[in-house]
Amino acid sequence: MEGNKIGGKLTTEEELLAKGYRKYTGETIDIYYNKDICAHVGNCVRGNSAVFEVGRRPWIIPDNGTAENDAQVINTCPTGALKFVRK
Ligand code: SF4
Repeated sequence: MEGNKIGGKLTTEEELLAKGYRKYTGETIDIYYNKDICAHVGNCVRGNSAVFEVGRRPWIIPDNGTAENDAQVINTCPTGALKFVRK
């Protein structure tokens, strides 16, 4: 799933917040997460456990990975619970 798009179009912070996503701010990329959509498949944690660590607060730290890798991992999320906006 393309982590920077919703319905085939580039998404925005405004759209994501309106849809109930929570923002995790990074230097060059922001990550957004919607717990209501997450199926707990774990692709994110397996993809980069430094960025995505269940039980840590905050559980997502975008700057623990590169923006490129963050985007790649988010693209493996099968539900769309994770999205990103590059800065
Ligand atoms: S990959 Fe997506 S659906 Fe799976 S646990 Fe992570 S956020 Fe949830």
